[in-house]
Amino acid sequence: MILRIHRGTKEIGGNCVELCTEQTRIILDLGMPLVDPRDKTKKFESFSVRRMTLPQMLDAGILPAVKGLYEGHDDTKPVDALLLSHPHQDHYGFCKYIRKDVPVYLSQDANLMLGVSDVFLPTQFGVHDKREFFQDRIPVQIGDFKVTPYLMDHSGYGAMAFLIEADGKKIFYTGDFRGHGRKSALFDKLLRLPPSGVDVLLMEGTMVDRTEEGVDTEQELETKIVKEARKYPGMKLIQCSGQNIDRVVTFYRAAKRSGAIFVMDLYVANVIHALERKSLPDPFNGFKDVQVLFTKHFMKRLEQKNRPDWYKRWRPYEMRASALKRAGGNVFIFYRENSEPELEPAGVPSGSVLFYSQWKGYMLEPSFRPTEVFCKKHDIAIVEAHTSGHAVVDDLVRLEKALKPVKIIPIHSNSPEKYRKYFGDKVDCLHDGELREV
Ligand SMILES: [Zn+2]
Repeated sequence: MILRIHRGTKEIGGNCVELCTEQTRIILDLGMPLVDPRDKTKKFESFSVRRMTLPQMLDAGILPAVKGLYEGHDDTKPVDALLLSHPHQDHYGFCKYIRKDVPVYLSQDANLMLGVSDVFLPTQFGVHDKREFFQDRIPVQIGDFKVTPYLMDHSGYGAMAFLIEADGKKIFYTGDFRGHGRKSALFDKLLRLPPSGVDVLLMEGTMVDRTEEGVDTEQELETKIVKEARKYPGMKLIQCSGQNIDRVVTFYRAAKRSGAIFVMDLYVANVIHALERKSLPDPFNGFKDVQVLFTKHFMKRLEQKNRPDWYKRWRPYEMRASALKRAGGNVFIFYRENSEPELEPAGVPSGSVLFYSQWKGYMLEPSFRPTEVFCKKHDIAIVEAHTSGHAVVDDLVRLEKALKPVKIIPIHSNSPEKYRKYFGDKVDCLHDGELREV
């Protein structure tokens, strides 16, 4: 089979891999890049392509040049399937451009996450409804390819790796993963029961050049947050991705251990609710110490999207301004710029803290400025409370030992050459677009 990484050989984000046999072609992920392909010193902004046509985006190298993938673009036989590893934009962000006759394979949980994102976030998964659902370790035949998905531990819910077999060869594509999250048992299981005879390990390496960044498990992070929270008598604000379910659970548990009320916003509440897991802090599942802050911003969005039921159903659990005021410091609450109109009238008590729970590099970006301004205005301390969604080098090494691949091809890493330090001559660094016979 032929392997070609259209994007991702030398960067984090924007993954797109094409695999083909004589008869069948499949694509693994179709992500939006994090850096702008037109100027790699700049961050990629999705609004910058809003007015571009499909041919313009292909010419500019923004969309990967895959034949038979995009709607109304070429007469090539359509690709047989697009496989999505997980619901992070740098893996699915360009899906809205694909042909409607190309089936998209993903996990049911990833699909639920994307359904909520489509309502709340400006970037869309798209109208594509030809979706097939993968189940953990249940193989699916797509033309010449046998694909076995493996549920993985990652900050993106429902993340999967894929074992892909064709022409007597095996490729294992990790997608994004880690071994220190709340689903670390999945990673341990993969190490214990690995597929055999893997020829190529296509492995993410976000952390190969961030070895100085220590990582905590989610449980360790939870304990750190509980300890920090004790130092601040005021409100505990949370800034984290509403889709990082592990982290939402970490904050919920920290709030509970602190004897505080946990207040989600409408976005987080609807994400949690969509997943229908009894273990997740959904007040409909009887979690009594959980409430929901209604913000005009999200209520307006839900009205526009014809989903007013998505806020009305939370009325019995609504955290009103008066109750928020009464709760004082006894609350862990999600913060975003657009919740300021609701937080300010309730009053931010003195001695409040904001737990910043994303990669610290984002704090240097302009998007963090409004948070800084808000914190300064209300004298809120900013405390970092984060652990990576990606595997540390030790876990990359453990995976390589378990799978014993003939070759390792780096993907989703800014420093693919650093793989050699850990895996020696097994490493085969490709360029974007290069063909490799497996
Ligand atoms: Zn990811």
